[in-house]
Amino acid sequence: MKICKTCKLELEISRFAENRKVCKKCRNKAKSDGIKRRIASGEIDFDVRLNYWMNRAILKDGRRHLTKAFLKERALEGLKKFPYMKFVHINENKKNYSSHPFSASLDRINPNLGYQEDNIQVIPSWLNSAKLNCPIEILIPLLRDFVENYENFKKYLEEIITGDLSV
Ligand SMILES: [Zn+2]
Repeated sequence: MKICKTCKLELEISRFAENRKVCKKCRNKAKSDGIKRRIASGEIDFDVRLNYWMNRAILKDGRRHLTKAFLKERALEGLKKFPYMKFVHINENKKNYSSHPFSASLDRINPNLGYQEDNIQVIPSWLNSAKLNCPIEILIPLLRDFVENYENFKKYLEEIITGDLSV
C-alpha cells in the first residue's frame, strides 16, 4: 500500500506507475487538466498543425483519408503520452515544425504503409527521427543500457555533443 501525494488515499501499489508518488487516476487527471489549460491559453493550437498534416497526407498518398476530427483525437492521445509536445511554430523561420525535438509529428507506425487511420499516431519529433534511424530491436536495448548506465552515458553525451573532452 502507498499513499497518493495528491488525493492522500492509501492505495494498492498496482494503482501507481513505477516510482510515482501520485496514483494513476490523479496523474491522468492532472495531465488532462494541463492539456485543457494549454489549449485554452493558446499554447496548443491544433488547427495549423492539423491542416498541415492533412495536406501532407494528401500530397504523399494522393487522396484525402484523414479528417481533422480524427487527427485531433490522435493528437490528444499523443499529448497524454508526451505532455511536453509542442503544437505551435517554435523555430525561428516559422516554416518547419520538425526542427524542434518536442514538436508534435505525424508518424506512420509502419513507414512502408500510407497515411491511413490505423497506421498513424502523433509522437514527438525526436522519437519519430529515432524510429527512422534506429530499428526498434536496436532502440530498446539501447534505452535499457542508457537507463542502467545513466551517469556514464550522461557524461559521454556531454563530451560528444559539446566536443569538450575534459568534461
Ligand atoms: Zn491519487
